Amino acid sequence: MRVLIEQARCCGAGQCVLAAPDIFDQREEDGIVILLQENPPEESRADVLQAIKVCPALAIRLED
Ligand code: SF4
Repeated sequence: MRVLIEQARCCGAGQCVLAAPDIFDQREEDGIVILLQENPPEESRADVLQAIKVCPALAIRLED
């Protein structure tokens, strides 16, 4: 499983961090998403899917 983020799309809403705090963080200066784990373990799949669902900017994708 590979997580991809598009920082150019991100509007800093922080929903992904609430859904999956082990996978996502936000830059302190502007709140733009930071990927903490590009290849998270399988157990994190549900959290990543939830983050994708709640991201208002459609800035997160998942590749198998
Ligand atoms: S939920 Fe989407 S828009 Fe909000 S910080 Fe995360 S990636 Fe950016």
